[in-house]
Amino acid sequence: MKTAHDAIIVGAGPAGSTAAIRLAEAGWSVALIEKQSFPRRKVCGECIAATNLPLLDALGVGAAFDALAGPELRRVGIFAGTRKVTAALPAFAATRHPWGRALGREHLDTLLLQRAAAVGVHLWQPWTVKHVSRDGRDHVCHALDVESAVTATVSAPLLIAAHGSWQPDPFVAARASRPQRGGDLFAFKATFTNAELEPGLLPVLAFPGGYGGIVLGDHGRTTLAFCIRRDTLGECRARYRSRSAALSAYAYLQSCCTGVRDALGTATLAAPWLSIGPIRPGMRAPWRDDGTFAIGNIAGEAHPILGEGVSMAIQSAWLLCDRLIARDDTVRGAQVSATAVAEAGRDYSASWRRSFARRIRLAAAFAHLAMQPGATRTLLPLLQRWPVILTASARHGAKVQRVVDPVANCVHSH
Ligand SMILES: Cc1cc2nc3c(=O)[nH]c(=O)nc-3n(C[C@H](O)[C@H](O)[C@H](O)COP(=O)(O)OP(=O)(O)OC[C@H]3O[C@@H](n4cnc5c(N)ncnc54)[C@H](O)[C@@H]3O)c2cc1C
Repeated sequence: MKTAHDAIIVGAGPAGSTAAIRLAEAGWSVALIEKQSFPRRKVCGECIAATNLPLLDALGVGAAFDALAGPELRRVGIFAGTRKVTAALPAFAATRHPWGRALGREHLDTLLLQRAAAVGVHLWQPWTVKHVSRDGRDHVCHALDVESAVTATVSAPLLIAAHGSWQPDPFVAARASRPQRGGDLFAFKATFTNAELEPGLLPVLAFPGGYGGIVLGDHGRTTLAFCIRRDTLGECRARYRSRSAALSAYAYLQSCCTGVRDALGTATLAAPWLSIGPIRPGMRAPWRDDGTFAIGNIAGEAHPILGEGVSMAIQSAWLLCDRLIARDDTVRGAQVSATAVAEAGRDYSASWRRSFARRIRLAAAFAHLAMQPGATRTLLPLLQRWPVILTASARHGAKVQRVVDPVANCVHSH
C-alpha cells in the first residue's frame, strides 16, 4: 500500500495533533501516524498551563477541555522535607483563561486526536513508523499496522517528527547507546482518589535525588508524577527489596516528604503506576539536516519540574504551522521548493530557540536545585518568609508567557 499527502506527522501527542489540525484546517492533506490506540495514559503531571487554553479554543477543543479539566490552578507551592510553602500563582492576563488546569492525558490527547479526524486528517492508528527514507523530493515512512502486522509506505514532501523523546527514534538508523549515568532520570506517575490536597494548589516536590508534582485533576482524581535519579532509585530498590521500582521510589518519596504523606496517606490508587526513562531533557534540532521538522519533545525538552512540556509541544507545533501556512504556495503540493522548505526550517528553528531555550535552561537550574538537599535546606526558610519569591519564579518560569497568539495568529517575540 502506498499513499501520498502534503505532509506526514509521526506521533499524535499534543504536538502532532496540534500540527495536524492546523495544517488540515488550512486545506492540507495530512497523514497522522500514531502507534498506540487511544485513549492511553501517559507519564505526565497533566497540568496544562493557562497560555495553552486560548490555543485549545482555537483548535476546537476548548469547550470539551473546560467541561472535563480539574479546578483552576491558582496557587503554587513547594513541599520538601517537613516544610510546605505555598503562594499565589500569577494570572495569565487579558484572556478568559487566567489559570491553568489539569486534565488526564487519556482525555486531552484523545480530544485533540478526535478533532484532527473531524477536520479531515488521515489517521493511521495504531500504526508505527519503523524507519524513514527518501524517494526523490518525497519523504517515505515505512509503517507497520500494530494489530495486523500489515506494512505500508506513506509519502509526502514534508515530514514532521512529533514522536516524543522517550521511545526509539525511527528517524535515525540507530542511536548510539549512551553509557548509563547515576544522574539519568526515571519518571513515575500514579493517579489517586480520596487524596487530601487543596484543590487548585500545584506543589513542586523537592527531595534528595528527585523532584515531582502533585495536583487535583479531572473527575476528582489526584495525579502524582515525579522523576528520580538512577542512583537514588537503585538505593530505594535496595532499601525496599520486595517492592517494584515504582513502589520503592514512592515509599522513599513518602519517607522524605511530609506534604506527600499528608496528601496521599489515606488516598486510594485509582490506576496502575506508569514509568518511563531515562528521560532526555535538553535542546535538540527543530529543523534537521535530513530536511525534516521536529516539534514537541523531540525538538527539545524541559525538565518536567516546570510542567511546561505540553505547552512546548502545542506551541512549537503552532510556530511551525504559522511558517508553513505562510509559505503555502512554495512548500506544499506539486510546487514544493526545497529552498522554501529549508527557509521555513531555519525560520522555525530560530523562533523555537527564541521561545524555548531560556525555558529549558531555567527548568534545568530549578531541577538541579530541587534535587540537592543542601540547596533546599538553604532556600526553604527564605521561601517560607517571602513566598512571593515562589510567585515570581512561576512568572519567570514561563507559566504566563505568551509564545503564540491565536487571535492575532501572530508570533510574539521576546
Ligand atoms: C514526570 C513528568 C511530569 C510531567 N508533567 C507535565 C505537566 O504537568 N505539564 C506539562 O505540560 N508537561 C509535563 N510533562 C511533559 C509532557 O508529558 C511532554 O513534554 C509531552 O508529552 C510532549 O508531547 P509530545 O507531543 O512532544 O510527545 P508525546 O506526548 O510523547 O507523544 C508522542 C506520540 O508519538 C507516538 N509515537 C512514538 N514513536 C512512534 C512511531 N515510531 N510511530 C508512530 N507513533 C509514534 C507515541 O505513541 C506518542 O503518542 C511531564 C513529563 C514527565 C516525565
